[in-house]
Amino acid sequence: MSRNATPLPQLEQDRPTTGGGYFVSNYPPFSFWSAEQNSAALQALQQPPQPGTPLGLYVHIPFCRKRCHFCYFKVYTDKNAAAITRYLDAVIAEARRYAASPFAGGRPLKYVYFGGGTPSYLSPRQLQYLFDGLKQAFDWSAVEEVTFEAEPGTLTEKKTATIRAMGVTRLSLGVENFDPHILKINNRAHDAGAIDSAYGWARKAGYPQINIDLIAGMLEETDANWHHNLERTLELAPDCVTIYQMEIPFNTTIYREMVESGQTTAPVADWPAKRRWVGEAFTAFEKAGYAVSSAYTVVRDPQRVRFVYRDALWAGADMAALGVSSFGYLSGVQYQNDKDFDSYIERVERGELPLRRALAMSDEERLVRRFILPLKTGRVEREPIRRDFGIDPVDRFAQPVQALAERDLLHVTDDAVVLSRDALLRVDELLPAFFLPVHRETPSH
Ligand code: SF4
Repeated sequence: MSRNATPLPQLEQDRPTTGGGYFVSNYPPFSFWSAEQNSAALQALQQPPQPGTPLGLYVHIPFCRKRCHFCYFKVYTDKNAAAITRYLDAVIAEARRYAASPFAGGRPLKYVYFGGGTPSYLSPRQLQYLFDGLKQAFDWSAVEEVTFEAEPGTLTEKKTATIRAMGVTRLSLGVENFDPHILKINNRAHDAGAIDSAYGWARKAGYPQINIDLIAGMLEETDANWHHNLERTLELAPDCVTIYQMEIPFNTTIYREMVESGQTTAPVADWPAKRRWVGEAFTAFEKAGYAVSSAYTVVRDPQRVRFVYRDALWAGADMAALGVSSFGYLSGVQYQNDKDFDSYIERVERGELPLRRALAMSDEERLVRRFILPLKTGRVEREPIRRDFGIDPVDRFAQPVQALAERDLLHVTDDAVVLSRDALLRVDELLPAFFLPVHRETPSH
């Protein structure tokens, strides 16, 4: 194959940051999901599960104290206690419906993920109500991991202990940055002082795993401040650190202000600077004994720190989506819930499954998904894919594998496909080379 025939995209991230999504969060791209395919999700719900497939829950809590300027999620900052209770009732009702379906097949849960929004926005009483409802619906006796996202300023010592007592094993603190000014101008709700308190309470409460989230490239980030962020994180010594490179999707406040002022370049660092910052972070954490476990994560003890939710989902586990806009996976059918708060609740109250859009994947799409999502860890084993799909990924993806290998971005061993560090730092830009042709050139959001 000649170099000219390679399907690799131009390495566009060697440019300033402009508007649009960068992160490949799923496959096939959401623009190929449709309401016409919702019937496939409904049908999957009436069928027993594939033998041996684990089941998890994704619970979406869409409330936040303030909307961050870079936020691209649908979040609500104005819901009162009555609206929140009605929402929690809808989430619990959805859980009961899934648990009673042939799809659940009486399976115990393997993992539960509380994402947002801000799950820690809920009061201890609201959290107790939600956990009680979910635990009555499903068998939690075999749960291996319960993840809970928290905004530091919403935690108190009591709430932090309560969340742990409910069975949360992995607390993910949305720190993002340690600098008071940067937090403020990005419209984060928490201040720098809240970080140390929240972290201390979390350690005291005995969480098996504490994660700190950072973002490389917030508004007004500098080299000196980034290095300070790394030092502060290393001082706290969390079990895991997740670092995202700032992207500016079209539905963010930052993008809206760019359009209003006629700017095409976002007022944040360019892609090479963000990549360099993540690369420097990886080096600093490795020096301190951490291991790089994906394009976005370092872990202190790879033997002990596992990511059950991530790894199960990427390997094709089932996941019931609870809550507005939530994403789920039913026996090879991907789906998303209604994205409107009132409509979501009303549909659940009417006894409907509140679907927005779905995609019943072909075998070929499942194979691509099975290969590219784990590639975000920098290494994909060949044998499990050969076993499940009857083809070696090195043969199936011969063209992009060779094209990336020619650029020293990837190499193949007897067992695995392995990305270079440079490739790992820009992995979301490289993944479309493995997409089916019909899905290339399509934004993933
Ligand atoms: S805390 Fe997270 S979900 Fe809430 S507004 Fe900020 S970025 Fe969005």
